[in-house]
Amino acid sequence: MSSVYVITGPSGVGKGTLIRALRGQIPNLELSTSATTRAPRAGEEPGVDYHFLDPDEFERRVEAGDFLEHATYSGNRYGTLRSEVDARLARDVPVVLEIEVQGARQIRESMPEAVQIFIAPPSPEALRERLHGRGTDHPEVIDSRLGVAVEELAARGEFPHSIVNDDVDRAAAELAEIVRDCER
Ligand code: 5GP
Repeated sequence: MSSVYVITGPSGVGKGTLIRALRGQIPNLELSTSATTRAPRAGEEPGVDYHFLDPDEFERRVEAGDFLEHATYSGNRYGTLRSEVDARLARDVPVVLEIEVQGARQIRESMPEAVQIFIAPPSPEALRERLHGRGTDHPEVIDSRLGVAVEELAARGEFPHSIVNDDVDRAAAELAEIVRDCER
């Protein structure tokens, strides 16, 4: 049986790193490439890291019903294209979504069979340090993301699985165990 795994949690918590480690352990998992209106960061490749859309194109695709979920996060639009998920499920390939909390809530409604996993930081300070340390965002963008994170952290109890990313190897092993259990 093929599945959809939703990995959610605040920006900077390490979702991407954990998903890379997870896919190292369970190579048949594929990651859905999201669409966004945010500008590409240095080194990000269109179609690989994101489908970078301008705001008009994003709205056109919302109207066309192309998104499984979509949300506004810190001033930009983000969304999962149905085509990214449907194509994999049609091939019987399990698919991973890396999305923020509003999107995860929409998937909970539209696809209740999806497995939802919340990634939490060991502390709010750890999140701040990580966002500053990775050096990908301007300080004002980091402040906005930390503001959203307060609400996102409060949502942890909504999720059936939650993992504290205190140590990448340990957290990735915990994540892999949840996925292996579901794929059995
Ligand atoms: P970033 O700008 O750092 O790449 O992403 C910002 C936030 O948007 C992160 O929490 C990330 O997981 C989330 N995100 C990325 N893609 C999607 C998506 O397709 N849908 C939703 N709802 N959130 C997404």
